[in-house]
Amino acid sequence: QDRTSLLEVSGLHAYYGESHVLHGSSFVVPEGEVVTLLGRNGAGKTTTLRSIMGMVRDRRGSIRFGDRELINLTSNRIASLGIGYCPEERGIFASLDVEENLMLPPTVAAGGMSLDEIYALFPNLKERRRSSGTKLSGGEQQMLAIGRILRTGARLLLLDEPTEGLAPVIVQQIHDVISQLKEKDFTILLVEQNYHFAATVADRHFIMENGRVAEEVRKNELEEKQDIIDTYLGV
Ligand code: ATP
Repeated sequence: QDRTSLLEVSGLHAYYGESHVLHGSSFVVPEGEVVTLLGRNGAGKTTTLRSIMGMVRDRRGSIRFGDRELINLTSNRIASLGIGYCPEERGIFASLDVEENLMLPPTVAAGGMSLDEIYALFPNLKERRRSSGTKLSGGEQQMLAIGRILRTGARLLLLDEPTEGLAPVIVQQIHDVISQLKEKDFTILLVEQNYHFAATVADRHFIMENGRVAEEVRKNELEEKQDIIDTYLGV
């Protein structure tokens, strides 16, 4: 039985100037699921997250979040409705320490996590709370970037390649954090290049090619659709 969809993207087009990047992409993210966007470099995964977040100015189609249409809203407005975006470059302020970085976002919705709740999820960050952004490892920066959006009360988290460049032991920690967030009823849409990680963490995958979703694969279909996945991802 499918759950209610929290996010419903249909016929999404996006442009960077003259360049037409998304070509009518459609997919749904059911409430409470972990969903990945897979696909080769340049398929349009990051652009999809940026479009949902209102960061690609020239976009058309429909992006429904609950009962709201987001396609014409500004980024600030979209964030205030309860969507948190963690970009690939993480956006940690080097001159601020861990706790100052966590305190940056204005709490936008009820249910935003307290510092104590965030530290319970990321014990490392508590130990390093007075360390400046520059002194953090890649893994700690990623944890901090996720922790920071949890402060805002966002219920839908958009994570762009959270495991990129991280050692296997840290990738496992990110896996555990995502599992804990799922248990806490967050809905997570993540872009992943690491297929193995995606396969172990997600309920559902959408494979993108040439700016649209070409294939949906549910967790229980991974084996039967392995050939299709390999073809699209070129593995
Ligand atoms: P990657 O993993 O390499 O980031 P992706 O699937 O996330 O791949 P996008 O980053 O969304 O892909 O890029 C989709 C297409 O849009 C690519 O052809 C890329 O060159 C182009 N593109 C991305 N950002 C811009 C930009 N700011 N201006 C112009 N073109 C862009």
